[in-house]
Amino acid sequence: MQDCVFCKIVKKEIPAEVVYENDDILVFKDIKPAAPVHLLLIPKKHIPTFFDLKEEDAGLLGELHLAAARVAREMGLEKGFRLTGNCNQDAGQLVFHLHYHLLAGRTLHWPPG
Ligand code: 5GP
Ligand code: ZN
Repeated sequence: MQDCVFCKIVKKEIPAEVVYENDDILVFKDIKPAAPVHLLLIPKKHIPTFFDLKEEDAGLLGELHLAAARVAREMGLEKGFRLTGNCNQDAGQLVFHLHYHLLAGRTLHWPPG
């Protein structure tokens, strides 16, 4: 999608610190980290929100979760991490290209704000 910042990162039109990539997904560092480790996990395909997911995207979601575990293990995050996805305005979604945040490196409070 033309005006989507994450699609631009997928197409390498704007830079990002990529930590994992395969044919379907991309994992990169958040530009404004909210924790010592703050990664974004995205499908390369433009899906605006969780409401736009289709049955055929089930495998893609599995890949994102597997990538979270893989990257967390590689980064030595055995103490834990949080994987969270914001959907629409009440959750504070700012970028309308589906993504998960992976947060780690400090104690994360619950419930979140
Ligand atoms: P949301 O509020 O939509 O769940 O989160 C969007 C996230 O994307 C925010 O944490 C924000 O810092 C991050 N972000 C926005 N633009 C860019 C960018 O150009 N590069 C990177 N690496 N992260 C971005
Ligand atoms: Zn997009």
